[in-house]
Amino acid sequence: MAKQYDVIVIGAGPGGMTAALYASRANLSVLMLDRGIYGGQMNNTAAIENYPGFSSVMGPDLAENMYKGATQFGAEYAYGNVEGVEDHGATKVVKTDTDTFEAKAVIIASGSEYRKLGVPGEEAYGGRGVSYCAVCDGAFFKGREVIVVGGGDSAVEEGLYLTQLASKVTVIHRRDQLRAQKILQDRAFANDKMNFIWNSNVEEILGDDQKVTGVKLVNNQTGEETTLDASGVFIYVGILPKTEQFSDLGITDDMGWIETNDHMETKVDGIYAIGDVRVKDLRQITTAVGDGGIAGQQVFKYIESLADQSAAVK
Ligand code: NAP
Repeated sequence: MAKQYDVIVIGAGPGGMTAALYASRANLSVLMLDRGIYGGQMNNTAAIENYPGFSSVMGPDLAENMYKGATQFGAEYAYGNVEGVEDHGATKVVKTDTDTFEAKAVIIASGSEYRKLGVPGEEAYGGRGVSYCAVCDGAFFKGREVIVVGGGDSAVEEGLYLTQLASKVTVIHRRDQLRAQKILQDRAFANDKMNFIWNSNVEEILGDDQKVTGVKLVNNQTGEETTLDASGVFIYVGILPKTEQFSDLGITDDMGWIETNDHMETKVDGIYAIGDVRVKDLRQITTAVGDGGIAGQQVFKYIESLADQSAAVK
């Protein structure tokens, strides 16, 4: 028989862990499922400077503290690569690659993943110079020249982190203005190790039979082609929702993000979505945590309403 919980939270990032904290503190039985270690993208982030209560905190440290908080009232955490959720009204069935669980409500907090650039060489040199995680892989490039592709918060923040390790960091951006927050831009422009190549697209990641040696670039204003040597290429060209496994529920928009109301309710009763995976303007740890608190509270009300309905039937 499938193991039963009041609430299953899919994803143990900041949103999922906060939802688990609120729901378990309301005396609900809660299981968090994640296919990786708890903490989500916080584990790939060096210094976090925009989480209240800390002037700066290491991502993995914040993840650890959130996990302690999330589990203190009995919420459980388990490995689970969720392959689908079935809606049977008052019961939801959550299937992973190894188990089947049942719950009265499900909170989807599966987050987002880095978008690929989609150029030749990107896949072939994955783990051999191409990376999507400066904190994980930056140390391999100590004293070497690296390239960062993108112009958003991730590109600039991770580029700045890489200046502590690499001898030179070149940001290649497709426009002549960064999208990143002003404070990050100011820091990047003031950093001697940061360089910028504007209006340019990476056409190919080049390498020898072992590792990355550079990139082929095209200036999208002049059409001029150049080659830039580097040992590492860090790609930060945006994020995509991790929602493929929920497509049958009909709760996503055209791009795959999940639509919710202010109560984090999706179109399906008893299924909630929080954090990066939602349609929203600002994807931050703070906003994920806020979503998690709301969903944890709403799920309590929803489960109470189910109990009231079943009492009325009797
Ligand atoms: P993002 O804000 O979507 O930025 C993606 C960047 O990649 C943009 O500069 C975009 O160029 C560029 N780009 C997209 N497709 C490209 C392509 N095919 N070729 C070349 N360049 C391409 O993504 P993000 O930086 O990963 O950030 C994701 C979310 O997390 C954002 O909401 C961000 O604010 C948040 N975040 C916050 C922090 C923080 O607060 N400290 C840190 C990291 C991330 P254009 O500018 O021309 O569109």
